[in-house]
Amino acid sequence: MSNVYEARIHALRAKLEGAGIDGLYVTDEYNVSYLTGTRGKDCTLWISQTEAVIITDFRYREMAQNLNHLTLFETSLQVPYMDFFRGLSCSRIGVEKNSLPLEKYLDMTAQLSGKTLVPVSGLIEALRQIKDEEEIRRIVEAQKLGDKTFLHMLDFIKAGMTELEVAAELEYFFRKNGADGLSFSTIAVSGPNSSYPHGIPSERKLQKGDFLTLDFGCVYKGYCGDMTRTVAIGQPTDEMRKVYDIVLQAQLSACDHIRAGLTGVECDAFARDVIKAAGYGEFFGHSLGHAVGLQVHESPRYSMAYTDPIPENVIVSIEPGIYLPGKFGVRIEDLAIVKKDGIINLNNAPKELIVL
Ligand code: ZN
Ligand code: ZN
Repeated sequence: MSNVYEARIHALRAKLEGAGIDGLYVTDEYNVSYLTGTRGKDCTLWISQTEAVIITDFRYREMAQNLNHLTLFETSLQVPYMDFFRGLSCSRIGVEKNSLPLEKYLDMTAQLSGKTLVPVSGLIEALRQIKDEEEIRRIVEAQKLGDKTFLHMLDFIKAGMTELEVAAELEYFFRKNGADGLSFSTIAVSGPNSSYPHGIPSERKLQKGDFLTLDFGCVYKGYCGDMTRTVAIGQPTDEMRKVYDIVLQAQLSACDHIRAGLTGVECDAFARDVIKAAGYGEFFGHSLGHAVGLQVHESPRYSMAYTDPIPENVIVSIEPGIYLPGKFGVRIEDLAIVKKDGIINLNNAPKELIVL
């Protein structure tokens, strides 16, 4: 079981020298999870060419002792984490820019004489981009659970219930069917609230003539799902139908054309060009997609700023949207595994406009 984690640590070690560091103090909880296979909260790691140490306290002692590929350094009130770094013989200590608290950085700088802190970023995140079979399996399961939840919600949703009731049922259904938790706070927004791409569910009651956008995902064995569907409550107007159809065509175009080797910019354009051509370009203000994994938003991305090629075996969302302020919004989102000759879509839930 620990082999996969040893292999990941080995891959990280190969990058240390190039980053100009003797070892890396891993403080990002998802990076810790990636290298240990367990929860990363309240645990940090020290990885050098010769050491792989988990630094944590009594609460996680038993968990840490079961990780055979790591040595435990147990902290306590009497033994602060700083003691560990004082005892290191090497001098160039890599620290993760995105997660080391500034307070810790200042303390370490002040207290570790003869050692240099070297802020680095992206070393482990780059390894996390390409998913192995087990990671793919977990995300596939998370997405299947997403599809199942959506179908359940189609039976549940009725005019008159609040957005909060919709979100609560959706989250309850996830948990009841095997989810560890939520990838992010469920978005269930209706009517004019649906023009907020990341709106928060409120006590607003669903009304006939609304669009309802549901953006949701569960965590399955540590890995995140993410999908969006927009449904109509009662008959939509002609404008609503028109906008829905443009978003759907944009989404389908991206699904048909995205493949490994194209840049994030090129992938983004498959959907964006459809929306622009229909005259709604200014109302699609976010990127087409993001990778998922241990976190719901990872790299790479399909965006107008991501000029690198998308590698094979990343799992990325495809989620165009059009948001008309004060009126309504529409977004449709699937997750897909990117392959050389196209994508494998992980969602089967219907995308044609559903009128409830
Ligand atoms: Zn989403
Ligand atoms: Zn997403």
